[in-house]
Amino acid sequence: MKRSIYGLTFEQLTNWLTEHGEKKFRSKQVWDWLYQKRVTDFSQMKNVNQSCIDLLDEHFTIETLTEEIKQESKDGTIKFLFKLDDGNVIETVLMRFNYGLSVCVTTQVGCNIGCSFCASGVLRKNRDLSSGEIVEQIMQVQQHLDKQGKDERVSHIVVMGIGEPFDNYDNLIDFLRVVNDKQGLSIGARHITVSTSGIAPKMYEFADEGIQINLALSIHAPNNELRTKIMKINRAYPLEKLMPAIDYYLEKTNRRITFEYILLKDVNDHKKEAEQLAELLKDKRHLSYVNLIPYNPVADNPYERSEKEAILTFYQTLMDRGIRCGVRTEHGTDIDAACGQLRSKQIEKEKARKKKKMQEKHGA
Ligand code: SAH
Ligand code: SF4
Repeated sequence: MKRSIYGLTFEQLTNWLTEHGEKKFRSKQVWDWLYQKRVTDFSQMKNVNQSCIDLLDEHFTIETLTEEIKQESKDGTIKFLFKLDDGNVIETVLMRFNYGLSVCVTTQVGCNIGCSFCASGVLRKNRDLSSGEIVEQIMQVQQHLDKQGKDERVSHIVVMGIGEPFDNYDNLIDFLRVVNDKQGLSIGARHITVSTSGIAPKMYEFADEGIQINLALSIHAPNNELRTKIMKINRAYPLEKLMPAIDYYLEKTNRRITFEYILLKDVNDHKKEAEQLAELLKDKRHLSYVNLIPYNPVADNPYERSEKEAILTFYQTLMDRGIRCGVRTEHGTDIDAACGQLRSKQIEKEKARKKKKMQEKHGA
């Protein structure tokens, strides 16, 4: 299978082209066609010589994702379901904020971390996405905007779709370098956020990358007992391993970190847990922000969304202790925009269809 050209950083493409006998300046031209003019076929690259076009065509593809479903919500959120080359499906979400247009990307087909509240975790990881497949999600959304003709640009990225980005680290980093590159899409590092369930060793590595990208940690519980109950990854990386990793990141980058906290009714939403969380973050509160996330119920899952009152008490308890926080506003609730929901519904439908077919075949 040919590789996606979107997966190459500028440097990688330049090296590849020169190794294949092309002039160094070709990479600039090719990137211009890819990221400024946003063509979808090598033959459209007008000022590139034919032999170079043939060479690229022989080794790379531009489009590998096909749009299966596109759902638009009343609030302007658009959810895309893409089919990959191998038939797997992934989802990508475009959200509208007052500060710009943000795209939520997927990094893996399924997820092995297996958090008990998450629709993606229910389905095991099938494979990692390549860096090209992650970049192409942004390109497909941008091309959708281009077609609308309103001169809108994707300005923000959140790596919060299906998958654990730090379990696909190298491809994630290539993706970030491509979208951040000034010669390409030029999406500012400060406008990009990577969310992790807390793979501690990779948090050290990320701190050392020297990029100004925001980090979010899905903490979801203030003590190990509760955290292990809802996120089994906490056995491998409990709080006593996570907190030093956070401290290292803060020291190294001096950038604020976001702690994500899903509020699950009667599980982790008591005042007691808010107090514990405030205690846990006390010494780093000047560089912390807690994002309280109202839970989006997932089918066949025991959890429920916290009551409004519990959410407010939690919020107030943190604020009273000097921990900055906010409650996440929801987007596209009418279109299954929560992490992995549309995809898991689609897979269920497919399973039901296959089962019905089998039954018909066997005369049941
Ligand atoms: N694997 C990474 C990034 C993807 S999940 C991580 O876990 O951080 C992105 C965020 O969505 C995480 O904070 C996750 O806990 C949250 N999430 C998952 N399922 C959710 C649901 N049903 N309702 C609300 N938030 C959910
Ligand atoms: Fe994976 Fe994140 Fe879902 Fe946990 S919350 S199962 S890490 S995608």
